[in-house]
Amino acid sequence: QRLANLINDFLDLQRMESGRQSYHFSPINLPSLVADIAEQWQDKQKHRVIIHQHAAELWIRADVNRFRQVFDNLISNAIKYSPSADHIDIHLTAHEGKITIAIQDYGLGIPQDANEHMFSKFFRVDNSDRRQIGGTGLGLAIVKEIVEGHRGQISFTSEMGHGTTFRIVMDQYEISGLDG
Ligand code: ATP
Ligand code: MG
Repeated sequence: QRLANLINDFLDLQRMESGRQSYHFSPINLPSLVADIAEQWQDKQKHRVIIHQHAAELWIRADVNRFRQVFDNLISNAIKYSPSADHIDIHLTAHEGKITIAIQDYGLGIPQDANEHMFSKFFRVDNSDRRQIGGTGLGLAIVKEIVEGHRGQISFTSEMGHGTTFRIVMDQYEISGLDG
């Protein structure tokens, strides 16, 4: 299973990097999608996935399968790099036509000298605190390709020993189109 995952990730990334990835965009109500994804994670492991949102509807235009892949990679990281925490938080907010998705964990954190390499393929932080945690170093490279394929931006803030927050900013999609 791990080998199959690695090969799939590798092929996904190759397709994206070469510009052969075609995205199938449709309007997506983010709170519904995130609730669905969180529920799937809920049974798999001990961390609770807690969603914070102020609106029942926040629409973006996205490829739903690729966007699931973004969430799955970021949630997977948030959980596996916070082995002694019991939950992660997902915040959905809208402001001036932009939607921000924040995925926050209370885990190991990212050392400053790793900052510029985080989205490079095969990069993994080599610290004694995470040498036992498996992975290939492709997850974040894929996430960045997908987010940029949606004209979004991704960034993170982190404090060693306290935790990390990854943020994605996307254009909000005006579903009605009738009010202006
Ligand atoms: P893969 O996702 O391909 O299975 P991976 O998780 O090691 O493997 P990435 O998701 O690309 O690869 O992450 C790269 C590295 O960044 C990780 O090895 C880890 O050290 C660090 N990292 C990623 N997310 C977090 C996080 N939320 N907290 C702490 N470190 C993180
Ligand atoms: Mg990962």
